[in-house]
Order: sequence, then C-alpha cells, then structure tokens
Amino acid sequence: MRVAVVGGGIIGLAIGRELLLRGADVTVFDPGGDDGAWHVAAGMLAPGGESAFEFPFLEPLLEASNALWPSYAASLGDVGYDDAGTLSVALTADDVASASREWKHQKLSTLTGSQVRELEPALSPRVRAGAFSPTERQVDPRKVVSVLRTVLKGRIVARQVTDLSEIDAEIVVVAAGVGTASLTGLPIRPVKGQVLRLHGEPGLLRHVIDGEADGRHVYLVPRANGEVVVGATMEERSDHFTTAGGVHDLLRAALDLVPGLSEHELTEITAGHRPGTPDNAPILGRLGLGRLDERTVVAAGHHRNGVLLTPITARLIADLVLTGTADPLLDAFTPGRFGCA
Ligand SMILES: Cc1cc2nc3c(=O)[nH]c(=O)nc-3n(C[C@H](O)[C@H](O)[C@H](O)COP(=O)(O)OP(=O)(O)OC[C@H]3O[C@@H](n4cnc5c(N)ncnc54)[C@H](O)[C@@H]3O)c2cc1C
Repeated sequence: MRVAVVGGGIIGLAIGRELLLRGADVTVFDPGGDDGAWHVAAGMLAPGGESAFEFPFLEPLLEASNALWPSYAASLGDVGYDDAGTLSVALTADDVASASREWKHQKLSTLTGSQVRELEPALSPRVRAGAFSPTERQVDPRKVVSVLRTVLKGRIVARQVTDLSEIDAEIVVVAAGVGTASLTGLPIRPVKGQVLRLHGEPGLLRHVIDGEADGRHVYLVPRANGEVVVGATMEERSDHFTTAGGVHDLLRAALDLVPGLSEHELTEITAGHRPGTPDNAPILGRLGLGRLDERTVVAAGHHRNGVLLTPITARLIADLVLTGTADPLLDAFTPGRFGCA
C-alpha cells in the first residue's frame, strides 16, 4: 500500500516508521528543519498530570501509551529514556493546597519537605511537601526524532504541502501538528510554550521535578549529560517571541525550587506551539466521507501530550491505515466530533 504522511514531526515520523515496519510503501512530506513542537518539548511522559485531571476521557489513551513507552524506547535505541520517575513538589502552603488536588486524583501519598529532600537533596529547604510518581518518566524528543529520521532515510521528501489533493498515494495521513488546520479545516490552534535549557554538572537532579512555586508552575527535566530543560509557559498566541516575562517566570520558579541551578549556564531559550484542539484531546481518525476525504486519515492535535502519545498513535493509526478498521480506543477522538467530517 502506498501511504503518504504529511508532517515529519514526532507523530508523523512515528507513524511512518510503524507503517514501514509493517510493509507499507511510505513517503513522509516535511519541509525539514526544527520547526515542530517536538524540538521544544521537554519529553515528560506524564499520563497522570493536569491533562488527565482536566480531561478524564483522555486518561485511557494516555495510560495505554505510557505502558508502551518502555518497549518502544528499547526498540528505538538511545532516545534518553529515563525511568527515575517524577517528584511533584510545592513551595508555599497555597502551592501545597493546589498541588494536593492532583496528588489526590493520582492516589499518590503526600511526602513531607524532608522526605522530598531525601529523594532529591538539591531541592530548596523551603519546599514544603511533595509526592513521588514512579510511572511518570521522560524521554528526549530530539533524540527520538533523530532516530526516526534515520529509520525513514530516503523516504522523507523536503516539501511543505499546501494542497492534499496534489499528493499521489492510496492513503494520506495528515500529521502536521498546528499545520494540520490549514490543510484540513480542523480546529487546531497554536498554544505557545517557552522553554529554557540550562547546562551544568550532571547529577544535580535525579528525577523530573514538577513544581508549584508561589503560584508559578514549572517543570525541570534533567538529562544524563547535565542539561536541565525548564518549562513551560502556556500562551494562546501564535508568535515565536521569547519574552522577558516568560523567561523571568520560569527562572524564578526554577531557582526557588532548586537554588543550585543558578550556577548552570543558560544555553537555550525557545518557543514552540502545542497543537491544541477545542477539547484539548487529539484528533485521530478518518477525515470523513467527502470524495477526497475518503483516503485521508488525521493524527494531530496532541497538545501537551504528543510525546507521551507517540507510541499509541503510531500503533493505532497504522492499524487503521492497513486494516481500514478503527480501534475502539479511538472512538472518543474522531475528527467528526467537531462537526467537520
Ligand atoms: C513548550 C512545549 C513543551 C512540551 N512538552 C511536552 C512534554 O513534556 N511531553 C509531551 O508528551 N508533549 C509535550 N509537548 C507537546 C508535543 O511537543 C506535541 O504534542 C507534539 O510535538 C506533536 O507532534 P506532531 O508531530 O503532531 O507536531 P510537531 O511536533 O509540531 O511536528 C509537526 C511537523 O509537521 C510539519 N508540517 C507542518 N505543516 C506542514 C505542511 N503543510 N506540509 C508538510 N509538513 C508540515 C512541521 O514542519 C513539523 O515538522 C510540548 C510542546 C511544547 C510546545
């Protein structure tokens, strides 16, 4: 079967690889470069985070994908997969009150400040409480994309697609992140996020830190090479500016929680766009019954969880493409729920 995938971000490439492994003749169209949200993303694999709390119907999909990550990462090789787990922490009494709702939802026991510092000694003595989630892990999205690009070498065409009808294939999978909106008319909007990358001696932090500091939410994702990814702002904006206020808020919260980060070098400030949808859940399925739509499958709108949702999206979209049948897990995520199909 000849399949074209439009968009070579983490989702499109993962679908392309899955189809290739199952014998399809795959071509991926992407302008190339580092334009996708994957390049900015921290790579937290956090199925129990805010998304599940706010959008319970997403939970089964997030959990199913999280369960696939250990074997998926092993099948890719070195992609920075780290299963040390996530330590969620809160600085002030108000921060504890707000974080506790989530800990309760995730059925995590609350740890005292000193218990939290036993697990992560670099945390400030001001941190009041926390909770440990062993199933919330991390991966490096840049490494994932690099491996996937290698697997699909020779099958990636450097092209920005503007009209799906120009693509010659039996099935067209549109996985173009925020670019999916103009190609399909689906309601996908950019949700800007600014992210910092710091660099210092490896080993300051062992776990992913997901923190509330004086009403500011921040996460710190430590990599084995000493990089610490600090994220992220959430802004309903489509520009690419990095701002003084965004950087200030992130650094302030990061240093309040882990003062030792002040000695790290600030190596990168980037802004990317999460592909958001009206219900903040992805759009996964056949576009509709129009003449051209018949061959079009959409896999986009993964918003804050695209890295986490990569393995399950690749598996279920490949199933749909190759068998014509949608797994029941996809029922809640059809393009039709927005009245566009
Ligand atoms: C600040 C920030 C932090 C994040 N942190 C996390 C996290 O910790 N964990 C997590 O799970 N997720 C996270 N995400 C979300 C995650 O990055 C996205 O959900 C995911 O990257 C979506 O993957 P995608 O392939 O659909 O889109 P993208 O990664 O955006 O890739 C889309 C690709 O399509 C290409 N494209 C666009 N239009 C066209 C066109 N017309 N023709 C051809 N190609 C086109 C683009 O060039 C790009 O390569 C974060 C996102 C941001 C912005």
